[in-house]
This record gives sequence, C-alpha cells and structure tokens, in this order.
Amino acid sequence: MTAAYPYPNSPQHIGHARTYTIADVNARYHRMKGYNTLFPMGFHYTGSPLFAMAKRLREGDPEIIETFTKIYGIPKSTQEKLKDPKSMASYFRDDIKKGMVEIGFSIDWRREFTTIDPLYSRYIEWHFRTLNRKGLITRGTHPVAWCPNDKSPVGVVDTQGDVEPDIGESFLVKFERDGVFYPTSTLRPETVFGVTNLWVNPEGTYVRAKVDEESWIVSRETVERLQHQNHKVAVEREIQAPELLWKTVRNPVAGNELPIFPGSFVEPDNGTGVVMSVPGHAPYDYQALIDLKARNADSAEAGAILQSTNPISIIRVEGFSDLPAKDLIEKFGVKDQNDPHLEQATQELYSKEFHDGVMKENTGGYSGMPVAKAREAIVQELTRRGKIETLLELKNAPVVCRCGTKCLVHILENQWFINYGDSEWKKLAHKCLDQMVILPEEIRAEFNYTLDWLRESIWPTTYYPSTSPGTGLSSRSSKRTRRNYLTLSSTLLYWEKGPLTGLQRRQGFRRESSLGSVLSSSTSIPSTCATRPENSSRTIYPSTYSTIRFSSLRGSGRKASWLTVLS
Ligand SMILES: [Zn+2]
Repeated sequence: MTAAYPYPNSPQHIGHARTYTIADVNARYHRMKGYNTLFPMGFHYTGSPLFAMAKRLREGDPEIIETFTKIYGIPKSTQEKLKDPKSMASYFRDDIKKGMVEIGFSIDWRREFTTIDPLYSRYIEWHFRTLNRKGLITRGTHPVAWCPNDKSPVGVVDTQGDVEPDIGESFLVKFERDGVFYPTSTLRPETVFGVTNLWVNPEGTYVRAKVDEESWIVSRETVERLQHQNHKVAVEREIQAPELLWKTVRNPVAGNELPIFPGSFVEPDNGTGVVMSVPGHAPYDYQALIDLKARNADSAEAGAILQSTNPISIIRVEGFSDLPAKDLIEKFGVKDQNDPHLEQATQELYSKEFHDGVMKENTGGYSGMPVAKAREAIVQELTRRGKIETLLELKNAPVVCRCGTKCLVHILENQWFINYGDSEWKKLAHKCLDQMVILPEEIRAEFNYTLDWLRESIWPTTYYPSTSPGTGLSSRSSKRTRRNYLTLSSTLLYWEKGPLTGLQRRQGFRRESSLGSVLSSSTSIPSTCATRPENSSRTIYPSTYSTIRFSSLRGSGRKASWLTVLS
C-alpha cells in the first residue's frame, strides 16, 4: 500500500490525517480479506518545498518566523537549528511520524525511509536507466516556469498557494518610430488593423535596448524576461514614460501613424509594458479610451490628438454592431476600466470573434477571411517582414515562488526530459489505465484527459541541491549522474520499499543488473521466484510524475495517485 509520502516542512496537519487514513483503511481492508499487505512510509526530503522553507527561516522572513513561533509553537532556540534543511526535515519527520503512530496507522515502521537515503537514490537512478533504455528520456530545449532567485524550474509544489504555472505564447507585434521598435504583446495579431494608439504606463520606467540586432523600447521589467528567453539584450538607456507619451509610431501593416497614450492599467511586468489599443474590438481598450477622453488632457495639443482618436471597426460579427466592444461594455454595464466585468466582456468577445468573425474590407488582402484564418495569415506575413516575434508568458501570472520571487518563463537548453509525448507510451498508459480499478469511477475521464494532455517533456522541475553546497540535500551519487537525474527525479516520487530491502542495501542497484538476478545470485532462492518480486515491482512501481493532479484523490490537490505505465 502506498500513498504520496509527506514533505516534512511543517508539522502534521489534517491533510496528512486524511491522506494516510484512506491508505490505512485500504491496507486494513485487504488484510482482513486475507492479503499480505505491506504499508511502508517514506519522507520526501528532496524537492524545493523544504529547502525554500529553511531558506526563508534563514533569511528571517517575518511571516515564517511568526508562523513557526505562534502557530507551530516552536521555541526560538529550536528554530535556529531548523535553518538547516536536513535538520528541519528530521524535526518535522519526527513530528509527523509521532502523529501517524498516535492515530494508529498500520504502517510497518521498519520500512521507513527518506528520499535522500543512498538506496533510494540508487533506485531512482535505476529508474532513469530503465526509462532511458526504453527511449523515454529525451534531451532538448524547452520552456519552463522559473524562479530567477533560486535559478531553478518551478512546478506546482514550488509556488505560493500551490499554483500550477501555465505557460502560453503571445505575439509581439512591432510598431516603429525612427528605426526603433515598440513591440506590443497580443494574442490577437489580426486586430493590428484596428489599432488606434499604443498604451504605456505613465508611471513606468522604460528602456531603449539593443535586442539581438534591433533597437527596442520595452519596460525595464521586460529586459530580464527577454534574457531568460535567449534574447541578447543590452540596455542603452532608461526612459521615463512621459518621454514616450503623445509621440507617434507606425503601424506595421496599415502604415499609418498612431499616438502613444498613458494607460495606468498597463502592467510593466506583463508583456512588454507597451500595449496596442484596439478599442473597436477590445473592451478594455474601449473603456480606457473613454476614461482618458473624460479626463483633462495634459496639454491642448494632447487634447486634440485624443479627441480625434476613435475606435476602428475591422471585424464583422453577426448580432453585433460595428463596435462589438462597445456593445459588450453596455451589456455588462461597465463603469470604468477597473470594472471586473471587463474580463468577462473580453472573454466573450474574443471567443465570439475568433469563431464567427469575418475580416472587413478595410483589412486589405485579408478582407472576407474568417478571423481564425486571418490570424494565421497575418502572423505569416509579419514574420516574413520581421515585424512580429513570440514571447512566452505565464498566463496565470503573477505566479510567486515559495521564496517570494515572481516566476517567469525560462528556456532551458540541452536538458533532459521525460518524453510524455511518446505516442506508444500514451497508448500503453491508456491500456494500463483501462485495466485499473479507479475509485470513484467518475474520475477515470480525468486520468484519460491528463494522459492525452501531457506533452513531450512537460515538466523537468526539481530543486538542484548540488548547486548550493552545504545547504541542500542530495544523494551521494556521482556528480554527473546527479546533475542529470535530479533534473528528472522529482517526477518519480513514490516507491515501494518492498521485501528486498536488506539485500538491496547490501548490493545497491548495480548498473543494469536486475533485482531478480541480484536476489538469485546472492541467495538460494530459485531465479523463477526471485524475478517475481522484480516483475511485481515493475508493475506496481509508479513511474509517472507528480504534476498530474487529481484533487479529488488527495486533499492538497498537489499530487496524483500514480499510474502503472512503465512496463
Ligand atoms: Zn524562488
């Protein structure tokens, strides 16, 4: 019987009681049915949650100190010791274990282990060799959510509030002034024909920077994000937003000149901090334009530019007027640009226009095209002309690392990944799932959905303990192997410490040697019997990874029950 074993980075809590009670009930039930039922327990020492907690304590994070003192009731003198992650792990391991013993879980404590036991590390290594042999490990360049402070990929277990980082791609449409580009982030490049102005945050600090071979104007916050996506960026100078306001830039498709307006809603750390405004088809832009017109302009000249700026209609959608953004603003009764209904209005219009919209006559060669098709064609044209790029962003930003740093998208080069996109693997996984009993049956669809959804090498995250000597927790495996497999190892979380333990400890997991052969060569057990546990361990061994989330299975919603997919 296995259940996701706990991270000892906090005292026992009700989630532990829930998770392990389910496992315990199951174990007891099977014993009563006459099965030999082993229920071991492990503690998850590796991974970032523990490390991040110790780090915050070391850095004197007042919130953590208050939690440890007032909620956990841990004396200051003890807290001092917990600044070391291993000591913290041992401390909370004892606490959690005590709770498990007091509750009366039928755990075989002789089988207790942690994820930094050398034997465990060897078992993980064995796993990766097996995956590698089966062609399920690939090397490549992929985007990951990243904490720039920890210099490490982040997954759901590494973020405050257990938020799963969601990476998406947006387009950077490049407007131009005197040979300098103003890239604006958008999901709807086809609306470039309807742009009336750009927005910048009037309080923001911008930079003129050499990005690869071009000069760009972007917010100061954008620089780091571009660098993490393999752009060469050299900042030439800082520019305060007022210097940009009311100047004009040229539209890359229509060729007309557009002014730059102040928009306090523009987030400097989202996109590039420069936004293209499509008031005819984007409710936020429509409302922001109305709000700005209602305000006193900075100068008479600015006032005149502002008053002559009006929404442009470029997409026809049945059931809407020329200005669908205005229709929806009225439908939702939006009051100003801070109105929460704007999000709803935006979602509704984007979806409607994408599926049913047709480009109007004022969109040149795209006239008459369905919006979805026009988007593709415009991206192609702009790509050809060097007027568009892509930017990877966290769609659910801000995603905050447990260390308190805002995460961004980082492109990891030449890294090892588990190839969850492998079609044979998917087929096999589905076949295995079909043979499994799932309780409750209704969530089988979620497992199937997740198997289909898993892409190639989706999540290589782990914490790299070896990069911080003396502070992290790591196995004793060779440095090179460690670097390779730690990238992946947090995806293999659960194992069963089976009946072979004593023997394995003596033998270790010899390179390429099978458990069965180790067993039969070291004992008088016939090889047919000896390989049975191995085969059985292959079958029960969970080889899938921790971000498959089925919150109905586990209280925190962090980790999945696992699937039998390897062999
Ligand atoms: Zn961090």
